[in-house]
Amino acid sequence: MPNVGVISIQGDFEKHLHSLAQIGVPGNEVRTPDDLAGVDRIIIPGGESTTVGKLMQRFGLGAALIERAQAGMPFWGTCMGMIMLAAEVEDREQFTLNLLDITVRRNAFGPQVHSFEDHVDFVGLSEGVTGVFIRAPIVTRVGEGVEVLSRYRDQVVAVRQGARLGTSFHPELTEDHRLHEWFAKL
Ligand code: GLN
Repeated sequence: MPNVGVISIQGDFEKHLHSLAQIGVPGNEVRTPDDLAGVDRIIIPGGESTTVGKLMQRFGLGAALIERAQAGMPFWGTCMGMIMLAAEVEDREQFTLNLLDITVRRNAFGPQVHSFEDHVDFVGLSEGVTGVFIRAPIVTRVGEGVEVLSRYRDQVVAVRQGARLGTSFHPELTEDHRLHEWFAKL
């Protein structure tokens, strides 16, 4: 049984813990490098990437996460989490883990479009998923070796690079747990 760590510094980490509980997969709050010892995959939730980046650096969690990722641990970032995994953020200097070879644009659907949901197609999931977008980023550059899993209105909104996954939207805010199931089995 996998043991999924959910970065619990800020944002909607409790929703991910709820989704994991619903499918019977153990979820653990991760705030410090020590919390990483017992987990074998990581979810970074939605939230505020500037804040989380600063706190990750302060507690040494960023370096510890990069080390575990390099050792092969699967990572999944939703919304802010995908920003934290990106190599580059458009027009900004901010700390990221640089684990997905992508460039992201924050709040890409416009500041006036705070949140919305819509159906999105998703590679490997026959009926697609309901995408909940909250001040969501898009992927504006996809590096070599990065697979596009989902596009919405011609924009890339989900990617995978090996065992690392990023989604612009929030499956944890729905009762559809297929992506959590898939990630737990990766
Ligand atoms: N707009 C946020 C950011 O740029 C992300 C929003 C979210 O995670 N729902 O950090």
